[in-house]
Amino acid sequence: MSHASFNSDLFRLVVEEIAGKEGVDVAMVLVNADETTDEEIATKTDLKLNVVRRILYKLHDNHLASYRRIRDTNTGWFLYYWKIDPKKALALVNRKKRMVLNLLEQRLEHESNNDLYSCPNGDSSPVPFEEAMTLSFRCPVCNSQLEYVDNSRAIQFLRKRVEELRADLRASSSLRIAE
Ligand SMILES: [Zn+2]
Repeated sequence: MSHASFNSDLFRLVVEEIAGKEGVDVAMVLVNADETTDEEIATKTDLKLNVVRRILYKLHDNHLASYRRIRDTNTGWFLYYWKIDPKKALALVNRKKRMVLNLLEQRLEHESNNDLYSCPNGDSSPVPFEEAMTLSFRCPVCNSQLEYVDNSRAIQFLRKRVEELRADLRASSSLRIAE
C-alpha cells in the first residue's frame, strides 16, 4: 500500500500525538502491509505484544486503524487482522493541517494589524502598540527602551505558509472527490 499522505512528516506527527513514538513504529508496519496481526507487528517492531495491542486500540479509537476478526478453527481463538485506512489517515492529516492553518492565519492577522514593539535584549515576545504604551515603552524585565519591530519579513513568511497550506488542502480535497 503506498499513499502519499503516509509519507508525510505530518502523518507521523499526528500518529505520535495519538500513540507516541512507538505508535509511529506500529503505524509504519501497518502502512507497509495490507493486513497484519498484532504478533507480526510485535516481531517487526521489537515491541511487547501488550504494548502493540494498546497502541492498536488507540489507533482504533481514533479511527485510524481497523481490524477483521476471524476464529481460528484449530484453537477456537480469535485472530485479529489489522489495517490502516488511507482515507481516514488523510482526513486526520488534513484536520491537523487546518488547525495549523488556523493558527498561522491568526498569527498573520495579529502581525499585520499591529505595530509591534520588543525589547532589544529579546526578554519577551513583541507586544502591540497599546501594550507598549502602558509599559511606557520600557521593557518590564531590563528597563531598556522597547524598539519598533519591522515584521514585514515575518508577515511575508506567514503569508507564504498560509498560501501553501491552503493550496495543499484544496489539492487533497479535490483528490478525495476523485477517489
Ligand atoms: Zn528587556
